[in-house]
Amino acid sequence: MATVVQKFGGTSVADAEKIRRAAGRAIKAYNEGNKVVMVCSARGKQTDELIADAHELNPNPSKREMDMLLATGEQQTVSLMAMALDAMGHKAISFNGAQIGMVTDSAHSKARIQSIDAKRVKKQLDNGHIVIVAGFQGVDEKGNVTTLGRGGSDTSAVALAVAIGADVCEIYTDVDGIYSADPRKFPDAVKLEEISYDEMLELASLGAGVMHGRSIEFGKKYHVPIRVRSSLNDNPGTLITDEVPQMEGILVSGATIQKDLAKIGLLGVDNTPGTAAQIFAHLAGANVVVNDIIQVELSPDKANLSFTISHSDLEDAKKAINEIKKEVNCQSVFVREDIAEVSAVGVGMRSHSGVANAMFNALREAEVNVDAITTSEIRISCLVNEDQAERALVAVCKAFELDKPEEERTYNEA
Ligand code: ADP
Ligand code: ASP
Ligand code: MG
Repeated sequence: MATVVQKFGGTSVADAEKIRRAAGRAIKAYNEGNKVVMVCSARGKQTDELIADAHELNPNPSKREMDMLLATGEQQTVSLMAMALDAMGHKAISFNGAQIGMVTDSAHSKARIQSIDAKRVKKQLDNGHIVIVAGFQGVDEKGNVTTLGRGGSDTSAVALAVAIGADVCEIYTDVDGIYSADPRKFPDAVKLEEISYDEMLELASLGAGVMHGRSIEFGKKYHVPIRVRSSLNDNPGTLITDEVPQMEGILVSGATIQKDLAKIGLLGVDNTPGTAAQIFAHLAGANVVVNDIIQVELSPDKANLSFTISHSDLEDAKKAINEIKKEVNCQSVFVREDIAEVSAVGVGMRSHSGVANAMFNALREAEVNVDAITTSEIRISCLVNEDQAERALVAVCKAFELDKPEEERTYNEA
């Protein structure tokens, strides 16, 4: 008997009909002989609506209270789902994060899962129930409700799949699978049959909102196959899995833009051992997640240091930098909020040359100015003006033929 975790995103549980349809899918898997756990998101745009409600009363609500509020969205879905299953004649039980011992750290609004007590879920599965778990939420050691960050239900689902030893984690969403780029921004993007954890991890952390990045970290670490599929049809979707040698044949698998970015520059900091460590330790202490870091030596005594962060961390980051700037003799600080990052990702980059050149040429032809460049073994990212981001994405997609099926791309043969 296999165990399946099925995660349903907001659009897939948006109304009564969609809840019934999701319930039907779980029953079908159950009738095929599987143990079934459903992980659900808040319905439709409910999380956004709750955030708007909060801001109407307080422009700067505490993160603890925000987590209390936002966790209610998922809790509504799971109880409704259990009622729908019951009405369809199936034994079902819903749980919130605390009830299944989903323990996280205390970083409200972006908590990280520390442990899950799977006993309760397993017991109910053994009793023949379909178990429905609220995504996105957990509880810290002191009993405070926490949330895992926007899109975090994916991470709840994969982490739960690990905890109960599930055979597969299926992510049901409003697209047919993972595409070579966000189909809303590049409608000619093609669907991928498979993608490696490493590529998906890069895409997710660089703005492909289709999967929460942490979920892929869990999948990779524990080798959980993750299948991303549409909740509206039976297409097989995309399998996120371990890398196989054939994947290296594809130069670039996907491209992204990330727009909710800000850049902070510290000009003229001390060029001495320990300066960067001091700055980033302070940012980490403030729970700021830093993306790309660029440091340039100006003279034997001074250096410029800049880094990018998401907008949601900007206020915390500014505060942390103000506290530390004197200690590192920083001459001035600048902040830019109108930047975006365009990236190309592919494990094939490891073994091919010329990818950076092709990307820079594409951006030049599209008359996009490149503000900074960062790379990893399997990605190239350029910071660009936010108002040029869409143009940059299309140029990069065209340059790497991300509108053609993989086998028709001439670039891969170069
Ligand atoms: P859910 O509510 O089901 O979690 P999300 O909105 O979080 O759904 O994720 C699905 C959306 O992700 C799609 O509608 C699509 O616009 C977006 N997306 C971004 N990048 C990609 C990509 N590379 N492939 C597929 N979808 C993508
Ligand atoms: N409901 C949360 C959000 O909208 C979590 C999720 O959907 O994954 O971000
Ligand atoms: Mg999502």
